[in-house]
Amino acid sequence: MSVQTPAPVRRRARVRVQGTVQGVGFRPYVYRLAGELGLAGFVFNDSRGVLLEVEGRSEAVERFLARLGPEAPRLAVVERVLSEDRAPRGETAFAILESPRGGRADAPVTSDTATCEDCLRELWDPADRRFRYPFINCTNCGPRFTIVRGVPYDRPFTTMAAFQMCEECQSEYDNPADRRFHAQPNACPVCGPRAALVWPDGAAIAAEDPIRAAAAALRGGRILAVKGIGGYHLACRADDEAAVGSLRARKHREDKPFALMVPSIDAAGSLVALGEHERELLTSPERPIVLAPRLPGAAVGESVAPGAPELGVMLPYSPLHHLLLADAGCTLVMTSGNASDEPIAFADADAHERLGAIADLLLIHDRPIQTRTDDSVLRVVSGRRILLRRSRGHVPTSIPLPEAAARHLLACGAELKNTFCLAKGERAWVGHHIGDLQNYETLRSFTDGIEHFQRLFAVEPEVVVHDLHPEYLSTKYALEREGVELVGVQHHHAHLAACLAEHREPGPAVGAIFDGTGHGADGTVWGGELLVGDCAEFRRAGSLLAVRLPGGERAIREPWRMACAWLSEAGVSDPPAALRVLVDERRWFQVAELARRGLHSPLTTSMGRLFDAVSAICGVRAEVNYEGQAAIELEAACDPAERRSYPISVATEVDRVVIDPRETIRAITADLRGGAAIGAIASRFHAAVASATVEACAHAASRHGTELVVLSGGVFANRRLGRATLAGLAAAGLRALVPERLPVGDGGISYGQAAIAARRMS
Ligand code: ZN
Ligand code: ZN
Ligand code: FE
Repeated sequence: MSVQTPAPVRRRARVRVQGTVQGVGFRPYVYRLAGELGLAGFVFNDSRGVLLEVEGRSEAVERFLARLGPEAPRLAVVERVLSEDRAPRGETAFAILESPRGGRADAPVTSDTATCEDCLRELWDPADRRFRYPFINCTNCGPRFTIVRGVPYDRPFTTMAAFQMCEECQSEYDNPADRRFHAQPNACPVCGPRAALVWPDGAAIAAEDPIRAAAAALRGGRILAVKGIGGYHLACRADDEAAVGSLRARKHREDKPFALMVPSIDAAGSLVALGEHERELLTSPERPIVLAPRLPGAAVGESVAPGAPELGVMLPYSPLHHLLLADAGCTLVMTSGNASDEPIAFADADAHERLGAIADLLLIHDRPIQTRTDDSVLRVVSGRRILLRRSRGHVPTSIPLPEAAARHLLACGAELKNTFCLAKGERAWVGHHIGDLQNYETLRSFTDGIEHFQRLFAVEPEVVVHDLHPEYLSTKYALEREGVELVGVQHHHAHLAACLAEHREPGPAVGAIFDGTGHGADGTVWGGELLVGDCAEFRRAGSLLAVRLPGGERAIREPWRMACAWLSEAGVSDPPAALRVLVDERRWFQVAELARRGLHSPLTTSMGRLFDAVSAICGVRAEVNYEGQAAIELEAACDPAERRSYPISVATEVDRVVIDPRETIRAITADLRGGAAIGAIASRFHAAVASATVEACAHAASRHGTELVVLSGGVFANRRLGRATLAGLAAAGLRALVPERLPVGDGGISYGQAAIAARRMS
């Protein structure tokens, strides 16, 4: 008797894949996977993502479904896989089909991505046809967002349109089994963009290999403008103090730290203290600038980052950078290509005009940059990624909203470190870092950026969200948009909501939102706020004690004015000796009088300004030339061995908690008089603010029946404060969230505005 083997069960499945699955090599990946498992069927892109059907032996279909998400290409983000069975059709081949006409794609554009390992192998292989080709890329890497002009994401709608692919490139592009199948920026030395070295007047410099020549000039101490992915950098040897110093002078940048590009992760490790998390971020496809504590003896010029406790380092992220760094063989300063506070140059004519006076030579290329995209910047605090700037590598990746927006919306963000955000349904796209919206140039990139995103993602805003500050250019822009519904959102509420929304926490939560400035619901200047709320609403549960901001805006640039205000508030009339040498005594008493009478001196609860005041009181920094400088230098001054704290009062009035540091200020001045070390004073001050924050949060949390605390606002970019506060909250049994996908500062405001407006609409 024989047992009959049952015929293999045939199965057909239709699969919908959602997420970032277009323009990332997802279809060829599906094609290869189906081929490997002997499955027939088809795959194509449509407006909702990827749709595919596979048919074959039941176990093979099973295996296909199990591997589909986990083995996706490195740039794909698979958010959802939905499958259902269909009747088998007896197909025997697998095909990649054309996208159906009509129906615009939701996520057609991905972010710019660092050169992948496969491309690097070819870059350094003398036998490869792209050996040392500065524009090598493939489906898994290369420029994306920065070269896109329109939709759909296809070569004619990118800045690669002018380059006609050669036969070899075209056959790679057309072959589903090739790593360059539909890689829009695909190019080679025969058909693609070229690098060139030119003088500031634009005259070409004859060089067989412009990159080797550029590297030699850098080694010799020259300053170069280097055209990269999202804009121009200014570069010079980092260990050559003469070069760094003259770059600083020519750029008119006084103290703000320069970023560094290091040839390797080991080189980075010789400059800064890197933990596991920092290493991972440095080598990630986003390749951000990572700020990490500088090591004693780090071989960089004095002027790279004067007074800063950290250095910002990044690894090469374009093939041109890889070649340049390898040829130069040393760490380079790679700072944004601009003078002082202007936006970074990205258009060629503009770069020549503005950077010609700064750079000795320009290393350029002929692939246009469509959208200026600065390097992203972050640091790691207690194992959490704190973004200071979210731009290249992250933009335009969408971030889901917890509550779908019923109508298309635009959120205009704040003023400093501006970003905008567009949203429809569950998807929100936070734009590239625009910068400080205080001049025509940045306003232009703000309005152009919004229009560009509206086209890319087919968003036609019916609702426009803005900050409550009437003078912000972003607010004025919102008020001028015609035929839309306007929604005003309080600044610190937006900070709180942004953090809750990215973590998909419904709240309510207590938010300790500490920053420099934000327009308060009561018209005063907020900035040291304890809020309780969610994405719908909030109430102010407390704040820092309000003091005068003597001379208004001027007090931001001149921290000694805040020292004056806080000392007066604390009943100390004379400036401490350390500050007396920095400030004219007559001006001191004039400002004290302003503060006393409240003339040109609005009330503020700003935590940023308290840090400024203490920095000035200690004589660390009386005037600043970049945002946050006084606090950064105060943090740098901290003595890590100091374990004590200062007294600080957390007063619980009827329904409001007030953090009152007057006692702290008095203790600081007493210590200064007693000759205590600045390092000890700075440390004790940080510890006091952290403990007051924990106490205030614990009080508000128990009163409002929650265990969830959000820490956000630019002040929490402070590593020491963040670490101590997080540790204190954990010890108090509270769960703390910080923004990790969006900037902790005002770059995160637009997304918070969008989350609030979406919630209010529903
Ligand atoms: Zn690649
Ligand atoms: Zn070619
Ligand atoms: Fe803010």
